[in-house]
Amino acid sequence: MTKSIPKKDSSGTQETNIFANALKRLDEAAQFADIPPEALERLKHPKKMIQVSIPIRMDNGGLRIFQGYRVRHDHTRGPGKGGIRFHPNVNLDEVKALALWMTCKCAVMGLPFGGAKGGITVNPKELSRMELERLSRAYIARIAEFIGPKTDIPAPDVYTNPMIMGWMMMEYSKIAQEQSPAVITGKPIPLGGSLGREDATGRGGYYCIKELEEKKRWKPSKIRVAIQGFGNVGQNIARLLHADGYKIVAVSDSQGGIYKEEGFDIPSLIQNKNATRRLKAIYCTGSVCETIQVKSLSNKDLLELDVDILIPAALENQITEKNASKIKASNILELANGPITTEADKILNKKGVLVVPDILANGGGVTVSYFEWVQNNQGYYWSEEEVHAKLHTFMIREFNNVYHLMTNRKINMRTAAYVHALNRIGEAVEARGTSKYFLGNP
Ligand code: GLU
Repeated sequence: MTKSIPKKDSSGTQETNIFANALKRLDEAAQFADIPPEALERLKHPKKMIQVSIPIRMDNGGLRIFQGYRVRHDHTRGPGKGGIRFHPNVNLDEVKALALWMTCKCAVMGLPFGGAKGGITVNPKELSRMELERLSRAYIARIAEFIGPKTDIPAPDVYTNPMIMGWMMMEYSKIAQEQSPAVITGKPIPLGGSLGREDATGRGGYYCIKELEEKKRWKPSKIRVAIQGFGNVGQNIARLLHADGYKIVAVSDSQGGIYKEEGFDIPSLIQNKNATRRLKAIYCTGSVCETIQVKSLSNKDLLELDVDILIPAALENQITEKNASKIKASNILELANGPITTEADKILNKKGVLVVPDILANGGGVTVSYFEWVQNNQGYYWSEEEVHAKLHTFMIREFNNVYHLMTNRKINMRTAAYVHALNRIGEAVEARGTSKYFLGNP
């Protein structure tokens, strides 16, 4: 957990019906996809859901009861796959939407998985380390029958980290009475984690930008980038882009953002952020902000900056119908899940903004999770170079598949990514036989 918890009103508007909104995107894309209507209908209903109450003895002796969830949205293409989120805003509707996006993400990336997601409604920053361990283990004890290396494989998501994945794997192994490293991914390396998993989401997004750079003949030193969210994902893409000469002019965390016209020195910013935990504290104590020509700005202002690439890498529903018309970036790379609402999509499309959608742009994380699962199952581990090379192959293959669908079918990149996902899910459904086949009309 590298970030502190945003207040509700600093993370944009909270959509109440996020799952219903997520379904709208499926319907839109289905018009262009080869998917039997009955398969599309199936995707509108998550396969299995569990909600658990988790009583925890707190350090002060009191008892608190937390709510936990796990949703397996679909397993047409393989076991469910997707992270576990610890956040005060976690609710069943959100977990359902996140699970649906995982189904689509795994299909876009060509991974042999369906989609799942889990979470606990909690502000982990308020817990001691011991309380956090107890909660993580107790959650797994309650959902143990629901998950497994061949049924549903969790991973980290917002405010969960490798150590938490390690505790969860150990708890599951205790219940299963066998070592089960493949039950969960994103583990610490000594507990069966994969090299290259920690920065995989940011790195996958970086490979997408490198493809765009080639197509658009960008000169990195001329390209201005703003990044919302400076946790694991935001920091890693910033580091990789900065090393290539891109100008990172603005970054923010849940407390607010900072802006520097000539671009930040990212390695020292990362070092300071991880030491002080707050971005603004690095420059903006007293009047230091002005003297070193760093301006402080809100998360809202950051989104509306005049930059070439905007990277939302925090939470969902950041760009909505309220601020979409004010967005000036011509390219958006969605490293968060669901940062742009369906209404905002329409406005951005009209403005001609190129949005590399979440189910492709942040697919690097789950792709290396897949590699971790493969390594756990075979008991043979790869070098970091091997992981990077394989991730690169997957990312650029699927980026170009989606890009070509976009240009050939004259649809936006998000719709193209959904079409690509639906086509792959459709193929798996057709292979089992649909009404068309069973009614004698193959
Ligand atoms: N939570 C990440 C995501 O939303 C990773 C999921 C995984 O590795 O299974 O893609």
